[in-house]
Amino acid sequence: MSYTTRFAPSPTGPLHLGHAFSALLAHDMARKNSGRFLLRIEDIDSTRSRPEWERLIFDDLEWLGITWDDQPLRQSERLPAYQDSLDHLWHERNLLYPCDCTRKDIEAALSAPQEGSEPAFGPDGLIYPGTCRGKTVRTGRFPKQKAMRLDMQDALCGIEGITFTETGTPAGGRTKTVHHCARELFQTVGDIVLSRKDFLGSYHLSVVLDDAVQGITDVVRGEDLFAATTIHAVLQRLLDLPTPSYHHHRLVRDEAGKRLAKRDDARAISRYRADGATPADIRRLVGL
Ligand code: GLU
Repeated sequence: MSYTTRFAPSPTGPLHLGHAFSALLAHDMARKNSGRFLLRIEDIDSTRSRPEWERLIFDDLEWLGITWDDQPLRQSERLPAYQDSLDHLWHERNLLYPCDCTRKDIEAALSAPQEGSEPAFGPDGLIYPGTCRGKTVRTGRFPKQKAMRLDMQDALCGIEGITFTETGTPAGGRTKTVHHCARELFQTVGDIVLSRKDFLGSYHLSVVLDDAVQGITDVVRGEDLFAATTIHAVLQRLLDLPTPSYHHHRLVRDEAGKRLAKRDDARAISRYRADGATPADIRRLVGL
């Protein structure tokens, strides 16, 4: 398969310097390797995505001199594919269960006195205590409008370990194999949500299915997602999808050392554009 990277922004706010760094890096890596660079609009969360933010993404990327090699893929058009995989995990693998717990319920369950240990955090925040795990039978119609969790212990049954290749900052710029023992993932990741109550699918599910359908060989993204990659490698294994190579890059931070967020309008690319900056200025600002 030819070397392919991607940029996958969510249209929930303006792109800032951190996004520009990620997009430029993925784009430059594809071009340097005579590969392809693809765009994906991660608008699965219809409650937060807005067409005006999507338009601004295209404008900002074009202004930065970034070109993409195919039609952008829109997650909102991929719901049937997400449902197919959820059906497979529900009907054929019996690996999902519905969960009604609110964040408050989870916090309350975890704050009950435990054997001297603090509640653990995983890639998705607090590790789910398993309250709903044995509550319902896992047969019948796929439950709609319910949060659906992956039974991690059952999912990893018969799997010894999960492995992926890292070439970015966490590997110190070298190529490193990251390996997790399957037994530990049950404790360090837990039963993650694969479909949400308010929209079908979840970030983790859609990202692995979309990377596979777009033929992404090299995922270039921020190191804040390094821990999530373990989840993605688990899902790739379960759904029989290839595991790309991963390149997690450093984050662009503000003067106080805090990573930039969507609400950091002062560092929005559109603001720099309006103030007369050039794409070369942006490259310099992000250290490229
Ligand atoms: N849509 C995600 C974001 O904007 C990117 C996810 C990814 O690169 O895997 O943070």
